[in-house]
Amino acid sequence: MKIDLRSDTVTVPDVGMLDAMMTAKVGDDVYGEDETVRELEHKLAVMFDMEAGLFCPSGTMTNQIAIKCFTNPMDEVICDQGSHVYRYEGGGIAYHSMTSVRLINGERGILTPELIEPEINEENIHYPNSSLVVLENTTNKGGGAAYSLAQIEPIHTLCNIKGLKLHLDGARIFNALLATGDDASAYGQYFDGISVCLSKGLGAPVGSVLLGSKETIKAATKIRKAFGGGMRQAGYLAAAGIYALDYNIAKLAMDHYHARALADALSKTNYVASIYPVETNIVIFEVAEGIKPERVVYHLAEKGILCNTTGPKTVRLVTHLNITEEMIDKTIEIIKQLQVSAHK
Ligand SMILES: *Cc1c(COP(=O)(O)O)cnc(C)c1O
Repeated sequence: MKIDLRSDTVTVPDVGMLDAMMTAKVGDDVYGEDETVRELEHKLAVMFDMEAGLFCPSGTMTNQIAIKCFTNPMDEVICDQGSHVYRYEGGGIAYHSMTSVRLINGERGILTPELIEPEINEENIHYPNSSLVVLENTTNKGGGAAYSLAQIEPIHTLCNIKGLKLHLDGARIFNALLATGDDASAYGQYFDGISVCLSKGLGAPVGSVLLGSKETIKAATKIRKAFGGGMRQAGYLAAAGIYALDYNIAKLAMDHYHARALADALSKTNYVASIYPVETNIVIFEVAEGIKPERVVYHLAEKGILCNTTGPKTVRLVTHLNITEEMIDKTIEIIKQLQVSAHK
């Protein structure tokens, strides 16, 4: 049996979710006739107190559509250096939106007004126009660190004063809400766009929803068409998303608990130098001096535990819906017994 801790994207639907998909009422969503897609978009819009939503095939697409909506060519997007929109979306910002990117070194991917303000360009013929800030909650490369609303609010204020839009890559927003205790409905007032993934911790097979004003979503719908993301009887997929929202948000607490248990075991080994604080479902640790992270990943894989490196010194484990208590116990046992020799 493999214990797959590479990502929370590896989950497969359970019987309840499959049943919801099988019995979904569908129509042609490009014609706006799929009531299940409408229901999902509406449900999330209400949840986050945004006017409207748009169901898309991936979080990459919702992010890239948002960036295109909120910028013009030759503008500049401000984000953390480790952010998904910059690192893991195939150079999409340059390709789709033709803007430059201003990178900030956030603390585990978390930005502050103090970090952002000096990077906003004044109006000057030499400078690209700073038009958008993108936040990520939780931060993937930052080890699942969560912004609280109290941290977001002053960033919103700064963007407002300086005339920049604010987009949230909320691939793991429900993990953040659980960790901070914040209320989803308070988010709408701060963001021009919110991207919510259904296929991460929530366990749906496919799909993300972009939330925004009616005007933004109207523009986004046209961009989605141009990106090739207009889907027909997409209600079968949206039904999985609705099911995920109804049944799987509550299960995220177990993922966070499991992540802390893994971190605790890792902290007692000699091949781990340090571990990022575990706030949600991601555990990132730095390997001890002289040890290559690839070796740790390799040795764990030999024992049936799959995980990834995230840099020259770091290894990442992600807990999710398909990881059971039993699997965590087994993983902890293996973590404790593992011998990793120093690289020569
Ligand atoms: C996974 C992820 C996305 C979107 O990924 P897709 O695979 O395109 O759905 C966006 N942002 C972050 C931080 C992610 O982890």
